[in-house]
Amino acid sequence: MKILLVEDEKKIVDFVCAGFREQGFTVECCTNGNDGFQKASSRNYDVIVLDIMLPGRDGLSILKGLRKMGNATPVVLLTARNELDDRIEGLNLGADDYIAKPFFVEELIARLHAVQRRMSGERHNVLMVGDLCLDRMSREVRLHQQTVELTGREFNLLEYLMRSAGHVFTRTQILEHVWGYDFDPSTNVVDVCIQRIRKKIAVAEKESLIESVRGVGYRFRKAEVTR
Ligand code: CA
Repeated sequence: MKILLVEDEKKIVDFVCAGFREQGFTVECCTNGNDGFQKASSRNYDVIVLDIMLPGRDGLSILKGLRKMGNATPVVLLTARNELDDRIEGLNLGADDYIAKPFFVEELIARLHAVQRRMSGERHNVLMVGDLCLDRMSREVRLHQQTVELTGREFNLLEYLMRSAGHVFTRTQILEHVWGYDFDPSTNVVDVCIQRIRKKIAVAEKESLIESVRGVGYRFRKAEVTR
């Protein structure tokens, strides 16, 4: 896990960094809010651990700035005992969790793992491509907020391709995964099914979200998938 720690108290920085490194986390540290925001907004981290009272820009302002610019990196706030209002404001601003000082680094690490699990749950349950949204739990697909009626087979095929967007699957792989048994490899059921899905999720006249890769198979266009 790659973590950004923004905290100005050296004692806290030292024991948190030591605990993180012992866990095998990679940690970068900033001791003032301006540097913290700069790093948080320009680099990729799995989680940001953010103190509230900081020299320079304060933690809540950093959080607000990040969310405003669409940065959804999970944030865990470090709060002092008497900062109840800040804690509530922080959660309202989009913090994922907080921990009150003083704390044990083991507890902070447990919170980070929990936040990550939640994130990956959400990431993996809903796949989104522009206006196309596939929910793996409810097995619903929506385009422009309208439900797209897919058969079970079509849903499985679409999910299979979307889940590994950018990866080319051969017809045989798709057959085995979606139909689950050995079909005659010369069958065209995959192509027929792809054509049906394409019609149902056609977003515009432009090329389809599902690309044919000549002589190989099919792939979902990668650039448009966000998780
Ligand atoms: Ca502080």
